[in-house]
Amino acid sequence: MNIFKVGDSQKAICESCQSVENVTFQLRNVPFNDGSGIATNILAGVCNKCNEVILIPQQSAPLINKQLRATRKPIESKVPAHFVDMLNNACAELGAQPDFSNALIKYYVHMLSHEAMPTDELKTYLKSNLAAGKSDKRISLKSSILRDELATLRSKTHIKSTSSVIKAIVLKIHDDIQVHPQPNLINQLKGVVAAVS
Ligand SMILES: [Zn+2]
Repeated sequence: MNIFKVGDSQKAICESCQSVENVTFQLRNVPFNDGSGIATNILAGVCNKCNEVILIPQQSAPLINKQLRATRKPIESKVPAHFVDMLNNACAELGAQPDFSNALIKYYVHMLSHEAMPTDELKTYLKSNLAAGKSDKRISLKSSILRDELATLRSKTHIKSTSSVIKAIVLKIHDDIQVHPQPNLINQLKGVVAAVS
């Protein structure tokens, strides 16, 4: 991939001018492909004659995608209050702050949906005593791949709702980290904590 710098220039066909023009790379706001909004401060090729953005180099794609993802709605799950406490305590056990909770859930969703962890006992967690309680707290998760991974997990485990899958995962986290501590898993998770803190 050719990496361009701000101020670099080349020739390109400009649709507006209907001619080959000099293009200079500058930081500009550009619309998303799906028209749902605008990505800001993106390196783009601007026609020197008409001042329109006429090309977007490949190097800008990850930043545009990052901004597009930020506009997506999070996945919301309702859980009883003690679920948030179990997550916070699991985080503390890993040496992390409570705000690591979402990363911890996403790690589990990823590992479970890719069969790097067994999924067969997930459903039984939902029958445990700790599964009960009025769902009056919210877990809000944002990720580009989470939606697909949760769909995979729902069909694998035959658990119907996303909230129930999230509840089963929190109960598994509590079990793996606090009730029956899994040393290898805990060490891996401490590595993830170090990477994001
Ligand atoms: Zn032009």
